[in-house]
Amino acid sequence: MDSTTRLYRTTVLSRIWLNEETFELYCTRPQGFTWLAGQYATLGVRGEEREYTLIASPDAQELRFLIKMVAGGALSTVLANIVPGDVLEMGPAKGYLTFRPTDRPVYFVATGVGIAPFIAMAADGVRGFHLLHGARNEDGLFHRQELIAAACQYIPCLSGKDRPSVTLPGLFHGHVTDYLQADLQGGPFDFYLCGSMAMIHDVTHHLDRHYPDTRIYSEAYN
Ligand SMILES: Cc1cc2nc3c(=O)[nH]c(=O)nc-3n(C[C@H](O)[C@H](O)[C@H](O)COP(=O)(O)OP(=O)(O)OC[C@H]3O[C@@H](n4cnc5c(N)ncnc54)[C@H](O)[C@@H]3O)c2cc1C
Repeated sequence: MDSTTRLYRTTVLSRIWLNEETFELYCTRPQGFTWLAGQYATLGVRGEEREYTLIASPDAQELRFLIKMVAGGALSTVLANIVPGDVLEMGPAKGYLTFRPTDRPVYFVATGVGIAPFIAMAADGVRGFHLLHGARNEDGLFHRQELIAAACQYIPCLSGKDRPSVTLPGLFHGHVTDYLQADLQGGPFDFYLCGSMAMIHDVTHHLDRHYPDTRIYSEAYN
């Protein structure tokens, strides 16, 4: 069996809820399983499989996943009820949303659990990026402190209904796309986008129109 088709088995160590719909899954690292920061693997239970980004540094002893429980979702609802000791099937690490060193200003743009590859990159030592971190509410700004420490500029963008009461350094009230339309200056840039297809579509369209020499790397989660 070659390294692109090999299946691994990983055992769940713990599950920690970060807010009412998002949790982290800690799992054992199977022997021989390797990845690059930003890559994902398929997790499988009872015949269903989906892709999930590895958020730990590639030299970590355990695997970690940041997972949103999608209402009615076939696999994320199963993973939300998994218990320590359960075994998951896992494919090899895949994907191209990995960091490429550059002299250009680097912008990471994430919505929701789309922050996952950037958590992995920060854990792997990537520094000096601008990060637009989009969420509805403050409790959706996962791993905020470590991302603030790694970024040269951290811009939380809150779009939910409780946003008027929140005060955070650098807070932008609105969607990440609103921030880019209002405040982005300079270029050309390297942009990394991860999260909803709608956000990736809108940001790509805006960058193509106003910053045509900008490089864009993206991964859509839905
Ligand atoms: C490369 C890649 C990496 C990914 N990494 C992650 C990750 O790190 N963490 C993570 O939580 N997810 C990640 N996803 C999404 C994940 O693979 C699943 O699609 C997601 O968990 C939903 O699966 P499900 O079986 O629960 O829902 P499904 O049964 O597949 O879908 C049920 C319904 O929910 C909709 N839906 C699917 N995803 C979402 C969503 N995110 N928000 C709202 N509605 C949705 C579907 O369109 C469908 O209508 C990634 C996807 C890709 C392609």
